[in-house]
Amino acid sequence: MNQIKPVRVRFAPSPTGALHIGGARTALFNWLYARKNGGSFILRLEDTDSERSSQESAQGILDGLAWLGIDWDEGPDKGGLYGPYRQSQRLRLYQQYLQLLIDTDQAYYCFCSNEELNADKARAREKGENYRYSGRCRHLDKEAARQRVRSGQPAVVRLRVPQAGVTRVADLIRGEVEFDNSLMDDFIIAKSDGWPTYNFAVVVDDHLMAISHVIRAEEHLSNTPRQVLIYRAFNWDLPQFAHVSMILAPDRSKLSKRHGATSVQEFRELGYLPRALLNYLALLGWSSGTDQDIWDVNDIVPRFDFEHVSRSAAVYDIEKLTWMNGYYISQAQPEALAAEMLRSARVQGWPDQTGRDYLIEVVKLLQSRARLIPELIEAAAYFFEEIAHYDEKGVKKYFARQDIKQVLEADLEILANDSAFTLDSLEASLRSKAAQMGLKAGDLIHPLRLALTGRTSSPGIFEVVVLLGRERCLQRIKQAIKWIDDNIRV
Ligand code: GLU
Repeated sequence: MNQIKPVRVRFAPSPTGALHIGGARTALFNWLYARKNGGSFILRLEDTDSERSSQESAQGILDGLAWLGIDWDEGPDKGGLYGPYRQSQRLRLYQQYLQLLIDTDQAYYCFCSNEELNADKARAREKGENYRYSGRCRHLDKEAARQRVRSGQPAVVRLRVPQAGVTRVADLIRGEVEFDNSLMDDFIIAKSDGWPTYNFAVVVDDHLMAISHVIRAEEHLSNTPRQVLIYRAFNWDLPQFAHVSMILAPDRSKLSKRHGATSVQEFRELGYLPRALLNYLALLGWSSGTDQDIWDVNDIVPRFDFEHVSRSAAVYDIEKLTWMNGYYISQAQPEALAAEMLRSARVQGWPDQTGRDYLIEVVKLLQSRARLIPELIEAAAYFFEEIAHYDEKGVKKYFARQDIKQVLEADLEILANDSAFTLDSLEASLRSKAAQMGLKAGDLIHPLRLALTGRTSSPGIFEVVVLLGRERCLQRIKQAIKWIDDNIRV
């Protein structure tokens, strides 16, 4: 009878560094699959390498996932029925299961020294062959080996691997992949310090945690036949496997530091929003079958399946991600953008002077124009900081004109006298004043913009004027007139 198992998937990072975007995508695909199937998403920390693992890295990974909004149902911080969820706390379990394989002759102690193994490797190299473990300890008497271990002799544990035939891996993305057993040797499943190797721990954990689907990076496909052999040795059912393709840099090399940001934290610091990053990562490998680019992950959930996950590598394109981020900034809640902006040191004093609501009004005015949070901060600066510098091209084009003083004085007069001070009234006053002077509206607007913002481009000038408020506008126009007197008129 075919038993339908509940869907239980896991993301199993080693906390030896930051959460890489490749890892985040693996986590996302697991999450999508769990949510689509009403299953559970488990977070497990593979921290058996005590030298390379760190608490900061573990925390960084948890924080990165939480920031992205990828929530887990069981994990080191949450607990669950299948814990502990840190491998470093599961040593007794691994030892118990190792013993089972040794007792049933599926695995054996190996006492070969490094010198012996190195000599074997050198011989294989000389013959131009691939090195495989010689099997020297394969037939040692079990009791005698146990005695040696008890008396303190260092030993690793190796799995007894069938020496012929093939091991097949059914992969939900790649189809059936075949591995020749003769290419595998009796590999190590526990080190001489008693700790299991990755392949052993992962199988024990995936089995004990009742994982139904192992969705992970392609680089682990080559480990899978070894893991399958361990499942067989225990006579355990296999989970389903799905190996997700690599993410490559634009030059098709492995994505690395030299291509810029690679960790989720770095993307956050650069001003990307979690929804944009999630949307982008989902499309790096999953395809909707349509040409729609903007996807809320919650809308992907019902559509997610492995038929739509690509077998070929995904090429990473920062321009597209940045474009998407611009879209999400334009759509985001202004409050959320303000909060994200306030993480930057530059913005620290801003709301103190004007109140948080003012920052939110500024965000509303600018959010359709920025692709990244720092761009939004840059665009907002003149609402909070005095004008210390006027754009050079703007100075040449607008402040150097002969009639600049009349123009700015006309602007001053309009802003001083327009009692309603609304978008419509200001525009009407400015147009009629320009007409009176025999000028175009732009002749009054461009110098005004430069005086108020220091820049040659901004959102609609009347919106800027209203938001800055009458007093600051008048003061800035006067400051510009003085600056022109000091710097241009001699
Ligand atoms: N700790 C492994 C890694 O970070 C997990 C691999 C797996 O999912 O089996 O690559």
